[in-house]
Formats: sequence, structure tokens, C-alpha cells
Amino acid sequence: MTVLASGSKGNATVIASAETRVLVDAGLSCRELLKRMALVDEDASALDAILITHEHTDHVAGLSVLARRLRIPVYFTEPTHRAWVRQMTPRTTMTYAKWLEHVQKEKEARAAQDAVESIESADPELCEESGTIQIAAASAEAEEEDAPGASIRRDPTFLPAVEYFQPGTNFSIGDLTIMPFTTPHDAADPCGFVFESASESIRMAIATDLGYVPPNVKRALERIDVLLLESNHDLEMLKDGPYPWAVKQRVLSRVGHLSNHATAEFLSRDYDGNATYIVLGHLSETNNAPELALLSAEEAIRERGRLLGNRVLLAQQAAPIAPICL
Ligand SMILES: [Zn+2]
Ligand SMILES: [Zn+2]
Repeated sequence: MTVLASGSKGNATVIASAETRVLVDAGLSCRELLKRMALVDEDASALDAILITHEHTDHVAGLSVLARRLRIPVYFTEPTHRAWVRQMTPRTTMTYAKWLEHVQKEKEARAAQDAVESIESADPELCEESGTIQIAAASAEAEEEDAPGASIRRDPTFLPAVEYFQPGTNFSIGDLTIMPFTTPHDAADPCGFVFESASESIRMAIATDLGYVPPNVKRALERIDVLLLESNHDLEMLKDGPYPWAVKQRVLSRVGHLSNHATAEFLSRDYDGNATYIVLGHLSETNNAPELALLSAEEAIRERGRLLGNRVLLAQQAAPIAPICL
């Protein structure tokens, strides 16, 4: 597991087994994601897929540009894909019929892709960040003259390939088995993931962006070797902090984010003590202090009396942390 970034300004984590390498969330610009991968010697061209937990900007900011650049599939739940498309095209009203039409058009555009040179290949060295400019540049006449599917490929929501999964139903990419689980968060269909590599019998999990730890998440987080777990805010710092009241309410709610206290409660009551590493993530830069989060989690584990393994690390917003290899 390599956490490239974690926090409300962007999230991205690489999970790799012997044969398969996936990126979970793409919440920084394409350029920044590639830069961070290079910093920790992760080969971006070796990525097999991008998986998305939910459509909030801090998880998808660089998604379409990166997926198009690397020409790899994006795995979403269908509601998350739809919410993301809506978010990227705010002026369009999208009925369900229109959504189905969009999906069909995208399929046709992909089928036509081999026949037509794609716009990205014009300058493969660059991350093209401006999907909207591409659209604006395409005049009505130009679209009529375009090759089949070309206009939809200019759409900032066009992806080289989309795969759907359902929370609660396992799926595989290469030698990784992925178990997506539903998380309580204010997005269309948010989820976390457990990754299991059959050949290495190692399990890693990502559980951030959740308002509390419900029973299905507790079950999903059993027998995990490397656990990326949210420890978003310190309750006192949030209450006394600068956020408007409504935002405080949102963060604190059952569909907001886990506090240090809630994370400690999970670690001391429900966690099985199995992990070699626990990585605390999605720390608020405004309403938390890394030392507080660390202390709180370490104390919680100490209460369990199991100190073997259970090394607690802190993910960072501004820089990748060293790859965690088991
Ligand atoms: Zn987030
Ligand atoms: Zn979120």
C-alpha cells in the first residue's frame, strides 16, 4: 500500500500485489498524481485500473484526465458514476433516460476509438487538464464533421472504459480479489474496499469518509494486515474551530467523518488487533493535529493489550508516505 495523499484536499492510494496494481481514488490533478507516484518509485504505466470510493472532489479531481492518459478502466458503482457525470456537467439536467443515453453513447464512442486517433494522443507528454475547454472549442459544425464518437470523447466525463461493481459483491482484477463495502457518508453510493491477494494471503483495507463504524464495516475490517482508517478530527478542535455551524454539523453527523475518538472506540472495542500496520488517514488540517490522532489511536490499541504488530502510521496530505510492503 502506498498512500499518495490523504485528506480533504485530495486522496489517492496505490494497492499492489505481485501481478496487479490499482489506484484507489484520484483526488489530485493528474500531473500531481504522476509526480507523487514517481517520488515513491511507483510506475504509473503499470496501473491496471482506478477504483473510486465516492464522487466527492477530493477523491475524483484528476480522474478523467488520468484514466485517459493511462488508458485504464475506472471501477465505480453505477450511482457513483452517475453522480460524478452529473457533477462534471452541472448545467445539464439528467433524467434517468438521458443517463442511459449517455452510457450508450459512451459505449459507441469507445467502439469507434480504435478507428479514430484519440485527442489525448496528440500530446502524450502532457496531462490535459481542461476538458471543458475542449468542449467549448468544439463548435456545432465541427462536431458534425467529426468522426463517429469524437464529440463524446471530448466530453470531460468520457473514460476509456467503465466497470461497475456493487458494494457487498466481490470482484477481481488480475490476482486481486476486491470486496467493496458500503460506508455511511453523504455521497451517492460511498464505499470502502478490502483487497486480498490470493497468492500472498495478505489483506489490505481502505476505510475513510464514514460518519460512524456500522456493523458491516466492522465485519469487513476483520483479519486485515494493512488498514488505512480515517481519523478525521478532534472533537474539541472541531467544536471550537473556524468552520461554520452547518459544516460542523455535517462533519459530526452519521454521514460525515470519523473523529479521533470514534476511531479509538473502534480500535479498542471492535478491531481484532490483527494488522501489522494501521495507517491513520483523512486527517483534517484545520480540526486535527497529527500527534493527537496518533496518541489517541495508540492509546486505544494499548488498552487492548495487543502491541505486537499494530504499528500506527500517519498518512499525509502534502506528500506520499513510503510504500508499506508485506
Ligand atoms: Zn474525502
Ligand atoms: Zn467524502
